[in-house]
Amino acid sequence: MIRRLVELLLLVFLGAVWGWYSAAANWTLAGALLGAVVWSIFDGLRARHMLRWLNKADVTRTPNLSGVWGDLIDRNRKILKKLEKKAQSSDARLEDFLAAIQASPNGVVLLDALGRIEWSNLTAAEHLGFDPQRDLGQYVRNMVRSPVFTAYMASGDYNHEIQIDGPGPKPSQPTKISLQIHPYGKKKKLLLSRDVTAVQLADTMRRDFVANVSHEIRTPLTVLSGFVETMQSIPLDESDRTRYLGLMSQQAQRMQTLVSDLLTLSRLEGSPSPGAGEWIDSQELLTHVVQEARGLSQAIARPAHVIEIDEAPAFWVSGAKSELLSAMSNLLSNAVRYTPGGGQIRAGWHLQSDGRGVFSVADSGPGIAAEHLPRLTERFYRVDRSRSRETGGTGLGLAIVKHVAQRHGGQIQVESSLGEGSTFHMALPASRVRAR
Ligand code: ADP
Repeated sequence: MIRRLVELLLLVFLGAVWGWYSAAANWTLAGALLGAVVWSIFDGLRARHMLRWLNKADVTRTPNLSGVWGDLIDRNRKILKKLEKKAQSSDARLEDFLAAIQASPNGVVLLDALGRIEWSNLTAAEHLGFDPQRDLGQYVRNMVRSPVFTAYMASGDYNHEIQIDGPGPKPSQPTKISLQIHPYGKKKKLLLSRDVTAVQLADTMRRDFVANVSHEIRTPLTVLSGFVETMQSIPLDESDRTRYLGLMSQQAQRMQTLVSDLLTLSRLEGSPSPGAGEWIDSQELLTHVVQEARGLSQAIARPAHVIEIDEAPAFWVSGAKSELLSAMSNLLSNAVRYTPGGGQIRAGWHLQSDGRGVFSVADSGPGIAAEHLPRLTERFYRVDRSRSRETGGTGLGLAIVKHVAQRHGGQIQVESSLGEGSTFHMALPASRVRAR
């Protein structure tokens, strides 16, 4: 401040001296005034210089001014630096925040008061079929062309979520998207989206499963209660009584098999995969299930089937013995039940060159048409419904085999065509196989 005053006084004094020296005495005052004007112009220029710099707010290039202007510039520079640091950390926080929303498995769209897209993460853009960059600023109702969504937006009642058909990766793979709007701020809206395709599929499967089980149990139960009623109301002679009791026992057996298969399936689904601790001889497993199958064949087929063992070097397999036996015997019992009496069946374990161990059952039965093959392991899926029922099938056998194979890290494969028999393979990974 003092410096400014000194500058002003100096210029006024120089102006006065110049006036007094160059002209008469009454020019001294004019000279002093001129000195003051020159100082004001000079000071104004410095103020303009500083204002220009403030407009640019460039802390890296500060004007070189002295005195109070220099102090002002220095202080402003410090304030600007502080603000810049603050802005940088806010930017970083915002980036982090947006990256977190980007990583969310749910879709997030921010809408302005008019319903235009302000920001969207990639998931939401995928769910709703728009471009998160190009379509910024577009009305969301123009992007999501679903009457349900349009009505939802217009209603203003956002207390519930809605479901619409998503664009999906392919037309053959439709998706179901759940949407809900949450108003916030000044009439702004947060639109959240979730892909519920898998949830809906699981729900449908659960409903189908319950309906199937109920149906499977109802049929033998109806037959059983019919016989009970008959026996209660009509006096029967000994032979009819024996026949009825035989039929009732058959139905009870059917329900028992169904319940037992259902329990097996739920045990397989609910328990952890078997460890690699127990090593079992492949030959031992094979002999056991082949003997069982021969017994079954003698009981249900005339003439019995020719069941042969495919000779191959035995090896060790690791897993749960009871599960492996159950899967193998399911495959063999299917071969026996679906191949007409006298037919050929071959079963055996083979060690593949890639180290996998494969159990195969080949039969000379009716074979299976190609369109049924992908669905064979679905629960209650049957190609030949009446043959399955006649022979005590539950429709769960191959589902059990698939589960056992998957729990052991393996898979099941079917080769079959109509009239040419079928071959079922259950492959175990090399990690569960050891040569003897
Ligand atoms: P099921 O208890 O009815 O036999 P599975 O799940 O074991 O049920 O088999 C599903 C369906 O696959 C059967 O209903 C049958 O139609 C068909 N199938 C299974 N194995 C054979 C086979 N070896 N030959 C012909 N069809 C078979």
